[in-house]
Amino acid sequence: MFGLDSDWSLDLPPRYHTLDDYEGGVVKWCPGCGDFAVLTAVQRVCRDSQLAPEKTVFVSGIGCSSRFPHYMSTYGFHGLHGRALPVACGVKSRRPDLDVWVATGDGDCCSIGAGHWIHAIRYNMNLVVLLFDNSIYGLTKKQTSPTTPMGVPTNTHPEGGILPPLNPLQATLGFTNASFVAQTVDWNPAHLLATIKVAHAHKGLSFVRIIQRCPAFVPLMFEEQKQNPEHVLYLDHPNGVQVDPAVAKLFPNQMSHDPSNMDEAREIASIPDKIPIGILYQNESLVCYEDYTTKGVGLSAASKVEALENELDRFAV
Ligand code: SF4
Repeated sequence: MFGLDSDWSLDLPPRYHTLDDYEGGVVKWCPGCGDFAVLTAVQRVCRDSQLAPEKTVFVSGIGCSSRFPHYMSTYGFHGLHGRALPVACGVKSRRPDLDVWVATGDGDCCSIGAGHWIHAIRYNMNLVVLLFDNSIYGLTKKQTSPTTPMGVPTNTHPEGGILPPLNPLQATLGFTNASFVAQTVDWNPAHLLATIKVAHAHKGLSFVRIIQRCPAFVPLMFEEQKQNPEHVLYLDHPNGVQVDPAVAKLFPNQMSHDPSNMDEAREIASIPDKIPIGILYQNESLVCYEDYTTKGVGLSAASKVEALENELDRFAV
């Protein structure tokens, strides 16, 4: 917009932010919900990175996890179903100085928001996208979601889901310009924290699928994987997620995977019987869309008008 002041620096005294500075409203998730672990990890990343709450924005769509912005004492936008990503891209497009995060669920992102998912990945704006994947519609009380496994009975499919579930990792790795794809689980707080930390440090859109438990409606969905780490494939690499060796040792199945290897990332994403955790793919050399959309936002109003007139003059006959 012409006349928009692009100097957004705030004259605030330097201060140290504690975890309390990020705590928002009273959390209303069900007891035992995996979302709690994600909230704790994100607040820690904010504290460890000393993100200024007034320069941080959480954007969400609709669903249990989309209540996330209410629970952060930062700026937030709890939007429409499936529309978190375009809102976040819009914010980043005009305010590249803000730290922008997206909380979205498997229904919100992979169903109604799927079109935005494809293009947000392609725009590759510098955002952190957390996909809370509990494989069920929880807020609306147990309908089949795009990631519900076949055979799981739900209110929409009492005899069990009939379609093969969508694989968000495979899908994201297939979208043009994907620059960061990782996966973690809510029940390993050290790996969850470390994954969100590297996602936040990445320049470009960081897509993190978090396998998240919903004890209210599908209490057994990930119980076996949680109880038996044989079901998890730990991705190990110097450029990957780093956790304490004592944590890494919990996982008997380990694989050395260089996150720059897209072909191998796609193979890992397709493994049917294990949950891979770690960074599947990372490429920081890809273009970020805001590098273009923010060109000229630092110009004065007069300079913008002059630039516009110069452009229009090109059409003079
Ligand atoms: Fe969490 Fe499931 Fe309750 Fe929603 S319904 S808050 S996902 S446990």
